[in-house]
Amino acid sequence: MRPKKIIFLDLDKTLIGDDYSPEPAMEVIKSLLRAGFEVVLNSSKTFSEQEYYRRAWGLKGPFIVENGSGVFIPEGYFPFRVDGRRIAGYQVIELGERYERIKKALEDIAEEYGLKYYGNSTLEEVMAFTGLPKELAKLAMDRMYSETIFRWEREGFHEKLLGKGLRVSRGSRFVNVTGDTDKGKAAKLLLDLYSKLYPVESYAVGDGENDFPLFEVVGHAFIVGGLTHPKAKRIRGIEEVLEVIE
Ligand code: MG
Repeated sequence: MRPKKIIFLDLDKTLIGDDYSPEPAMEVIKSLLRAGFEVVLNSSKTFSEQEYYRRAWGLKGPFIVENGSGVFIPEGYFPFRVDGRRIAGYQVIELGERYERIKKALEDIAEEYGLKYYGNSTLEEVMAFTGLPKELAKLAMDRMYSETIFRWEREGFHEKLLGKGLRVSRGSRFVNVTGDTDKGKAAKLLLDLYSKLYPVESYAVGDGENDFPLFEVVGHAFIVGGLTHPKAKRIRGIEEVLEVIE
């Protein structure tokens, strides 16, 4: 049986740039789909944000939200039972913590460290911190499993959050706080589900530190931007992935 090719793609600074438009990545996504790839978004972005991009790009399969916190699988996508919480037509395998708990943990230390994050920012502040247009900022504020710290006045909050059993990781733009999960853990789980059906060949493209655990679990990793990773091949931009893969 020919292996199924599965590619995990980061969003911020990998597929989308500073204007957050889905347009520039349209062609590369279409090319990957035409080449028979299963395209799986794996990003720190929320369910609502990823639905926006998936709709724009015509993606129909599973996707991973909020830094490995939730694996969303369309109902009936796999011909076997997948255990998970039912949300809006998806079976969701939840690996992270509920948002309420993470928000509470941040509230406890926000003043001490001068933290600003979605949960204590207004829509206008979110737009200013992120550069997101209003409609996308609203989608980003619709959080289920994680927080994003935009600004801090003192160091040391990492340790405090670790002490509360949470994880802190650096994304392309900001610092993410999740439960005990990462993009790699979620990708591995999804790859195991695909592997029940056929042999899989796995790929990933990302740019940030939070993509490093993802690079560890795939066969072929590619990195864009300024960082390096021993397992990831450097490419200039997402468009180059097609040349390198074929
Ligand atoms: Mg990124």
